[in-house]
Amino acid sequence: MELKTDRRMAMKLALGGAAALSAPQVMVRAASAQTPAVDPANAGFRKFTLGSFEVTTLFDGGRPGEGPHPIFGENQSAEDVAALMEENFLPADRFVNGFTPVLVNTGSERILFDTGLGEGARGGGLGQMRQRLEAAGHSVDEIDIVVLTHMHGDHIGGLVEGGSPTFPNARYVTGQAEFDHWIRDGQSENEGVQNNVVPLAENMTMLGDGDDVVTGVTAMLAAGHTPGHMIYMLESDGRQLAITADTANHYIASLRRPDWHVRFDLDKEAAAQTRMRVFDMIANDRIPFIGYHMPFPSVGFVEKLDLGYRYVPATYQFDI
Ligand SMILES: [Zn+2]
Repeated sequence: MELKTDRRMAMKLALGGAAALSAPQVMVRAASAQTPAVDPANAGFRKFTLGSFEVTTLFDGGRPGEGPHPIFGENQSAEDVAALMEENFLPADRFVNGFTPVLVNTGSERILFDTGLGEGARGGGLGQMRQRLEAAGHSVDEIDIVVLTHMHGDHIGGLVEGGSPTFPNARYVTGQAEFDHWIRDGQSENEGVQNNVVPLAENMTMLGDGDDVVTGVTAMLAAGHTPGHMIYMLESDGRQLAITADTANHYIASLRRPDWHVRFDLDKEAAAQTRMRVFDMIANDRIPFIGYHMPFPSVGFVEKLDLGYRYVPATYQFDI
């Protein structure tokens, strides 16, 4: 009898334990069912070292929507885009656009590349850059330099919060051509640029092709997506990495078919030429890259194929 009771107790404990373990999973499922945003990462950041630099990708959020056609492959038939998606195990009528700012700690400066969608998007589960930065062990006060790869809303949205600069101790860097495209006589016709960039302009440095942000962080003009869109080459202790920003914005459509037109590219032909120039370089030199809209954690490599490139997500390359 005693043994039986013990067994029953043991079973009860086991069941209780199982119930206790499964409760948080149920809660997570319920929470994700309520929010429209997709969050594939638990922590929302990925930290690794590159030479003596520390690099952290920060997941601002993911937005599901209709597509990729005609946003990607605007000059192609829906059927051709659908076929490429199906070949790559993706749905033809839905896609997720993710947003990934990057923090680079050189040892002497903390540099943030782009800022996410900002407080206005937070209700929809986006605009989480600040939260991710804090989860990764940093604070907004620590940021010395904010680099804007270009001035689209998903990159400048996090610059200002509650009417004040989000990064109180930062100076700002952007491309001269980008600044000149959006801002004339200290004003912008674009509401986002007017509200978020113009107030910070007096504390902003403009770079040209080949200029350094700091030693080991070099700007490279990659025009097309916008006229002054810039990518950044990092180099530390002989290790290299490219921050390619919006050069390629869908890991299949833009990389497998770099010549396809993309609605968000202001100059579609120039953007296609830039995509091929940048990813040829990255493929030939086997340089890892971080793409702002690549699937989180947004770090990977490309292999050059006869037509386009194959995206190879990074796994443990930086951890060993
Ligand atoms: Zn973007």
